[in-house]
Amino acid sequence: MSRVALVTGGTRGIGAAISVALKAAGYKVAANYAGNDEKAKAFEAETGIAVFKWDVSSYEASVEGIAAVEAALGPIEVLVNNAGITRDGMFHKMTPEQWNDVIGTNLTGLFNVTHPIWSGMRDRNFGRVINISSINGQKGQMGQANYSAAKAGDLGFTKALAQEGAAKGITVNAICPGYIGTEMVRAIPEKVLNERILPQIPVGRLGEPEEIARIVVFLASDDAGFITGSTISANGGQFFV
Ligand code: NDP
Repeated sequence: MSRVALVTGGTRGIGAAISVALKAAGYKVAANYAGNDEKAKAFEAETGIAVFKWDVSSYEASVEGIAAVEAALGPIEVLVNNAGITRDGMFHKMTPEQWNDVIGTNLTGLFNVTHPIWSGMRDRNFGRVINISSINGQKGQMGQANYSAAKAGDLGFTKALAQEGAAKGITVNAICPGYIGTEMVRAIPEKVLNERILPQIPVGRLGEPEEIARIVVFLASDDAGFITGSTISANGGQFFV
């Protein structure tokens, strides 16, 4: 049996590690991305993982993109909602555009991608939906009112949908990463990283994308069938809920 998995934002950072780990675990993987063709094509050539371009903030584009994935690989049984963006700014300076962009991708994107896949999972009595939220959705973060609101919304979505999916063999869970060493975080000036960020992390280091990917592989497996509606924090001891 080789299940089909879709990873949104699956060509870079944490999503790329998730795509690669799912492929290594035997899944047929589709990696979605938004616009960075060069990076996506290089990822496809390097890993052999098929890439599919659409913007998850559009429902119509998501319906079309999912149809293309299912035509190429078969019905999607594992969905990892990972695509995410930041448009940071202090709230008094935040524009409606910054707000709407982040809510559109990081929260509405989960509706747009999950909704067209959900009925098929119900019909087949099996599904795994794994939402990548954030520590900043759990605790809030100054300069990220939009991002924190969207990521907290992802947790509410997870818990509600878990209740709807339970009788149909579908589990829905969330992962809240702390600081993970992706390009974005590694681009932070070394001084800020060493003096301001690392001291907040009890284990004394950034997380690795592969550490999030391994949680996804477990949650996607048959072994994790009793885990639903859960939030798994992976933040090096920075914040407990
Ligand atoms: P990256 O910026 O490295 O990669 C983002 C990926 O998402 C890219 O593949 C990008 O495609 C894709 N993407 C962005 N917007 C859209 C969109 N509208 N439609 C489709 N695809 C889109 O992100 P990270 O790996 O750092 O983050 C991944 C997830 O983890 C995000 O949800 C983020 O909020 C969350 N997270 C990250 C943390 C970290 O420390 N890095 C900490 C906590 C949570 P393209 O290449 O085309 O732009």
